[in-house]
Amino acid sequence: MSSDSLLDEALQAGGDVPALGTGTRLVHAGRDPMRYHGFVNTPVFRASTVLSPTVRDLLGRTQPYIYGRRGTPTSEALERALCELEGGAGVVLCPSGLSACTLALMACLEPGDHVLVTDAVYGPVRHACDGLLRRLGVEVSYFPPGTGAELGGWVKENTRAIYLESPGSHSMEVQDVPALVAMARQHGLRVIADCSWATPLFFKAHAAGVDLVIQAGTKYLLGHSDGMLGTVSASPRAWPALKALHGDLGLCAGPDEIFLALRGLRSMQVRLRQHEQGALAVARWLQQQEEVARVLHPALEGSPGHALWKRDFTGSSGLFTVVLKPVPFAAVEAFLDGLKCFGLGYSWGGYESLALPLDASEGRLRALCEPGCQCVRLHVGLEEPQDLIADLRAGLDRMQAVDMDSLL
Ligand SMILES: *Cc1c(COP(=O)(O)O)cnc(C)c1O
Repeated sequence: MSSDSLLDEALQAGGDVPALGTGTRLVHAGRDPMRYHGFVNTPVFRASTVLSPTVRDLLGRTQPYIYGRRGTPTSEALERALCELEGGAGVVLCPSGLSACTLALMACLEPGDHVLVTDAVYGPVRHACDGLLRRLGVEVSYFPPGTGAELGGWVKENTRAIYLESPGSHSMEVQDVPALVAMARQHGLRVIADCSWATPLFFKAHAAGVDLVIQAGTKYLLGHSDGMLGTVSASPRAWPALKALHGDLGLCAGPDEIFLALRGLRSMQVRLRQHEQGALAVARWLQQQEEVARVLHPALEGSPGHALWKRDFTGSSGLFTVVLKPVPFAAVEAFLDGLKCFGLGYSWGGYESLALPLDASEGRLRALCEPGCQCVRLHVGLEEPQDLIADLRAGLDRMQAVDMDSLL
């Protein structure tokens, strides 16, 4: 049964039936088995050319699909599912999360425009702002993520958009999205938000007034570290420009990645609940270890923006940052190199745990760390928390065993 028919049935059943629960939506959204002989999942259409039976059909565009780049039943299934989850007017698919970020920015900006970008923005997006956007004649200002309504003071005559990421990369600072949206409305600015950490399940960005909602689908949507994908969902007023630019740039996602995203979607709520519980258990345990100065995790009291997280989010995911008391970097290496459950590598959102050293003297972390502190970013996967904790305890013991005096 497709999500449409489930919804229709619920509505026909008599007026004010409660809306379908998220888990139910995740299972049914974008799926139409009877269109494919009853097979449960939407098939992978690998396509460039779409044949027409006659010249009249070809030129008259009488068929639902025209060309592989312009969409297949596979891409349409994911777009529909995400549209339902995000609650926007339309969704486009991109080959990576980063391409979704740059697409959203370019859809709102023209030469001579000014954009306000959170200072905790994902590093490669900052690189694109400082290079690509400036080369296109766009002015960029970075604002502290903790800024609320007072960001109005930063707005100039040529300001057209604000770009949010909450919680932000590395420092995990949560932003006051409702206050920023209200300010943006006053000044007629578009609001773009990268919501990869929360996913559509834990933060309803369109409902909060965000125009363009970005997901690095590579992370929790695919969820298995085996593909790259990005998505942008648009509000009705932001949709025409987004759709047009996506078409002009010739962006599309690979059919296998789309299939993996559709498959990931079905279990996303179950996985996220597990990531959430595991990460909270590990983070709370880390808070009590003597080697740890603080844990930057939005759902923990004392983390930057915790009150905002509590007000605006319905859950937390598996990614957070640990600030270690001052030790030489060699001690951090000893901690991380011998970890058995945590892999060393970039990205996050897969089923497996990851660890990554961060430079505490750089960017937003500098303000949150005492001099000499070291930072490690953790992604808590679906392993049992007690095994992860034992792995981390052994790592902290290795760290303690490093001869500090000879290194300092
Ligand atoms: C990883 C990430 C991206 C980019 O996604 P890719 O698919 O790796 O290009 C964008 N935003 C945030 C917050 C990310 O963590």
